Amino acid sequence: MTHEPGQTLYIDGQWRPAESGRVFPVTDPATGDVIGQAADGDATDTRAAIAAADRALPAWSGATAYERAAVLAKADALMRERRKDLAALMTREQGKPLKASMNEVAYAADFLAWFAEEAKRIGGVTIPSARADQRFVTMRQPVGVVAAITPWNYPISMLTRKLAPAIAAGCTSVLKPADQTPLCAVQLLADAGVPAGVVNLVTTTRPGEVGDALLESPVVRKLTFTGSTAVGKMLAAKAGATLKRVSVELGGHAPFIVFPDADPVRAAKGAALVKFLNTGQACISPNRIYVHRSVYDTFVATLEQRIAALRVGRGDHDGVSIGPLIDERAVAKMEAQVLDARTRGARVVAGGERLQVDGLDGTTFFAPTLLADVTPDMLISREETFGPIAAVTPFDDEDEVVARANDTEYGLAAYVYTNDLSRAIRVTEKLRFGMVGVNDINPTSAAAPFGGIKASGLGREGGYEGIDEYLDTKLVGISV
Ligand code: NAD
Repeated sequence: MTHEPGQTLYIDGQWRPAESGRVFPVTDPATGDVIGQAADGDATDTRAAIAAADRALPAWSGATAYERAAVLAKADALMRERRKDLAALMTREQGKPLKASMNEVAYAADFLAWFAEEAKRIGGVTIPSARADQRFVTMRQPVGVVAAITPWNYPISMLTRKLAPAIAAGCTSVLKPADQTPLCAVQLLADAGVPAGVVNLVTTTRPGEVGDALLESPVVRKLTFTGSTAVGKMLAAKAGATLKRVSVELGGHAPFIVFPDADPVRAAKGAALVKFLNTGQACISPNRIYVHRSVYDTFVATLEQRIAALRVGRGDHDGVSIGPLIDERAVAKMEAQVLDARTRGARVVAGGERLQVDGLDGTTFFAPTLLADVTPDMLISREETFGPIAAVTPFDDEDEVVARANDTEYGLAAYVYTNDLSRAIRVTEKLRFGMVGVNDINPTSAAAPFGGIKASGLGREGGYEGIDEYLDTKLVGISV
């Protein structure tokens, strides 16, 4: 399926310009170069997309689970086949190193594969009645039209994590991707081969207007959102007016705890990998690293060495492990957090400043940074960093560190390094987070439930739970 530049709305199986004719440029965050144009959709376009999704709903929800599974399986195969092209586009549009983009495409395809199978496992139950002449059964049915709003940091996998279970459940969708990364969404839909109207796309620089049109519509029965806590709370409140189903995957402030019985070198290597993943622009990125005082110096020295080995640059250059931040505002946030921490007594062990890379003007590159002796009064101990700064704090006592780890409004991911099994279980049970990595930095998979509690969100994506968010339960009582 092809489309002309700027004709990036996908409604009822057709590529279209915005009704207003407006377009916006899409840029490469590393260079600032314009790499394409997208249609700037508004409320009128959004209403057309909702109507298309509504029209497609009866046929799609009436398709057999096997037909829906076949569409997802084909999309999975196509995505793997075109992995390189999609990854190259992601690197240009979002900035992450090519290898990371390749990994993300594979992860995104995993959701298509997983939910292709889950489509065939949607089942109800029979329930005994107290009356001899009555039977109860439940049916699981699609919630209807879904509004999906996604962020720029994982511009392909966040989409399939929502669209694949929606498609599997028999729902139809309107997708609004982040305005920094519309082209990845366009490519995804161009390649996926879903029937007309089943997934519709509105690219836009007017998230408020498009969001309101989606949320005000009584036809839209579900909101699925990934992004910041501030926007997620606002959208969930608006969705309340028409009592839509809501799942929101929001910000995080992950603690990473290294106990005295853990291997501090292994823990530091793990911390370096997960902290600098996607240049720190990940919701599960460790924001507070607590290390027992007895292994603190070894941990800090190892992390410093690992950071020294990281290569910052354009994502399409060989050997680069850290790409640019998404924009100048993100770099300014890094500077503000470092300045605040330094002023309040933190040690800057590595980095701490903007970088000039590859002769570029240095507006979006920030050196991988290690702050030691961080204290709870510092901005970085509260505010989500979303960038390449590792903040390390010593601790002495298990109860004290668990209390500190839980002292956050967020509750997405947490990490524990210990070789004491009892401690691993004890601490994991006390941590108020949706996901805990025990001596493990990647507690994520299409087959596992991803999500948070408290200000990190509602609902789960992936795993057995992922499809439930797109299904309603209907009870049927039968007199016999
Ligand atoms: P953001 O909240 O600014 O934007 C997310 C999406 O919401 C974008 O598509 C944006 O255009 C849209 N949006 C913004 N204002 C809107 C409005 N008024 N109405 C409707 N839509 C609106 O977040 P971001 O900066 O793109 O993403 C970073 C955030 O996402 C971080 O906080 C990160 O932790 C979080 N995140 C969470 C997960 C998770 O699974 N929990 C995954 C990735 C990112």
